[in-house]
Amino acid sequence: RAKAAGGGVQRYHAALSEEAQRRSELERSLSDVLERGELWLAYQPVVELASGQAVGCEALLRWQSPVHGAVSPAQFIPIAEERGFIREIGAWVLREACGRAAQWQREGLELRVAVNVSAVQLRDPHFARDVAATLRAAGLPPASLELEVTETAVMADLPGAIAQLSQVRALGVSVALDDFGTGYASLELVRELPLDKLKLDRSFVTGAERDRRRQVIVASTIRMAGDLGLQVVAEGVETTQQQDMLLALGCPLAQGYLYARPLCPEDLLNLLARTLRR
Ligand code: C2E
Ligand code: CA
Ligand code: CA
Ligand code: CA
Repeated sequence: RAKAAGGGVQRYHAALSEEAQRRSELERSLSDVLERGELWLAYQPVVELASGQAVGCEALLRWQSPVHGAVSPAQFIPIAEERGFIREIGAWVLREACGRAAQWQREGLELRVAVNVSAVQLRDPHFARDVAATLRAAGLPPASLELEVTETAVMADLPGAIAQLSQVRALGVSVALDDFGTGYASLELVRELPLDKLKLDRSFVTGAERDRRRQVIVASTIRMAGDLGLQVVAEGVETTQQQDMLLALGCPLAQGYLYARPLCPEDLLNLLARTLRR
């Protein structure tokens, strides 16, 4: 018995140290990932449900490492945040996304780009000033940029976040609350934060066509957003049933695999010529 338990503990330690080793390898690779040019941005369209047209896109960070392969942002961003690399990486994402959107505009394509912002970036008292400088350098009108913040990022320093987000909105940049409904303070944040948009988390959309509770939450969020003059995007729309439910509930915007996966810029452009409503 004791022996078996000991083996279990050993396996547990082996698994832990494997995990720890992978993490420290990722950390090392991340420290100069920008210099090695291994990051790129994928763009996922945001679709106006009524017309089926793409009205914007979200920039999603991708890391293609020659050593580790394609690493998910859900895995490497927390490490980059913890080790402080996210400041530089976040600044790169913003420059890259603004540069791309400005290039599209010069080619005649008006498409607002949404960029995810981490807690570490938002805690920087110069964040809004840096956003303004990035827009200027790219030649992108502020109205073509949207910043997505999560509840966790904002709650890390609520007064600081309110100050920075008020300043970016004063520039004409819009602000979206990401993963809406997943945290503990969703309504408090709707009350306190300078906001333009709610992004209704995928966990409410998934299965909502079969689950009355989720459907009620989706419906109430759409109504609340409308009454407050906020836009709302349903995230993670994968089926036509979900789309039809959202249409019936008056949801203006949607994003998800039903329309497109996050795409490289070239594939996005090829797709945009088409109507995306299914
Ligand atoms: P998020 O901001 O909530 O982004 C949406 C995630 O859902 C993306 O995962 C996207 O690929 C995925 N998704 C979109 N449509 C569907 C769908 O229909 N079904 C399903 N199952 N998934 C869908 P991704 O690209 O792996 O990104 C994961 C998270 O990493 C993001 O969640 C965001 O929190 C973070 N992230 C990505 N890029 C950046 C960035 O540039 N900066 C920061 N700070 N965080 C980022
Ligand atoms: Ca997001
Ligand atoms: Ca989200
Ligand atoms: Ca999420």
